[in-house]
Amino acid sequence: MTDKIGFIGLGIMGRPMALNLLKAGYELTVHARREECMQPLAEAGAKTARTCKDVAACSDIIFVMVSDTPDVEQVVLGTNGILAGAQAGSVVVDMSTISPQATRAMADALIKHKVLMLDAPVSGGEIGAINASLSIMVGGPIEGFNRVLALFKCLGKNIVHVGDHGAGQVAKACNQIVVAVTIQAVSEALLFAKKNGVDPVQVREALMGGFAGSKILEVHGKRILDGDYKPGFKVRLHQKDMSIVMETACKLGFALPASALVAQNLNALMGLGDAELDSAAIYKIVEKMST
Ligand code: NAP
Repeated sequence: MTDKIGFIGLGIMGRPMALNLLKAGYELTVHARREECMQPLAEAGAKTARTCKDVAACSDIIFVMVSDTPDVEQVVLGTNGILAGAQAGSVVVDMSTISPQATRAMADALIKHKVLMLDAPVSGGEIGAINASLSIMVGGPIEGFNRVLALFKCLGKNIVHVGDHGAGQVAKACNQIVVAVTIQAVSEALLFAKKNGVDPVQVREALMGGFAGSKILEVHGKRILDGDYKPGFKVRLHQKDMSIVMETACKLGFALPASALVAQNLNALMGLGDAELDSAAIYKIVEKMST
């Protein structure tokens, strides 16, 4: 018998991901706290549910794609949350980017009720969600991973079982460190070119083929040169992710000086009212420091 699927959180990422599961032929029940977000899914054939509890009650595998750690905690453990409706043997797959520590605590709470949790955050942005080409980093028991693998294949291409509970979120934090620090490096290089009176467009072109070449130089470098900060990945979400990185490093007692610097620049962008810009806007801070 095919598993019945639930999907909670239908924002920029969740909506196209849920649609891809529907297109693959799965029976899908969705929930979003705003009625209008469920409309496109209902029109495409999904059932809608009033609460997360109701989704869990009629699903074997429940996907979650909401914003931040307290949101996932509310959706999973809150009043009318997943745990209140979930059947023993069901699996909760959290694809949001949240704290690894909170993930482990939720997995422990769920397993007491015979409900398995996987953390499965993604990289690849809205385009990756639409094209089902996301990178998916999975933490949790291998039996759970194997049970959900066919569904992950409807959502992404590079699907890696990283380790036990929280390991997927740790991998995602690593991803965000590399992205953030590289945006900072690209910003400094393009400013260096400009301040030297050399065309940064030509410098980016020259750098693309060598060791400094990267996806960030290609995509974010172009956004910086065009001054086009339409998201993409929003400053407020990148700030959230770097807060997870810094809190985790603080709890475990180790230093990440470059990450700390970029986290401060993201804080500055929030203060300037740029929360909804693409995080390539880190360049604006780098430039402002010397203008
Ligand atoms: P988004 O467009 O803001 O969507 C988040 C959705 O979660 C919204 O529909 C929101 O509902 C819902 N939500 C938030 N808190 C909730 C709660 N307590 N109960 C029920 N629903 C709740 O964000 P997104 O871009 O899809 O990102 C979702 C997650 O994926 C985040 O963790 C983000 O860091 C991660 N991510 C995003 C990208 C990207 O490029 N956007 C890439 C990789 C990973 P409302 O609409 O009612 O607020």
